[in-house]
Amino acid sequence: MKTPKIDKDKCIACGLCPSIGAGTFRMNEDNTKAEVYDPAGDEEAMVQMAIDSCPTQAISWEE
Ligand code: SF4
Repeated sequence: MKTPKIDKDKCIACGLCPSIGAGTFRMNEDNTKAEVYDPAGDEEAMVQMAIDSCPTQAISWEE
C-alpha cells in the first residue's frame, strides 16, 4: 500500500496539507510541522492533491 510521508526538514508548517486531506494529515502539537496520523484516512486523489500543493515538496509517497 502506498502511504504518504512527510520530510519534516522541508515542512514549513503552512497548514495546507491538513486543510486538503484532513483525514490523513494534521499539524503537530505545537503547530510547527505537519504529520501523517492516518495513512489511509483520505482517498488517494486527495492525498495526491496535498502532495502537489505542498509549497516545499515535503510530501511524497512511500511504497
Ligand atoms: S503542505 Fe507541505 S509545508 Fe505545508 S504543512 Fe503540509 S507538509 Fe508542511
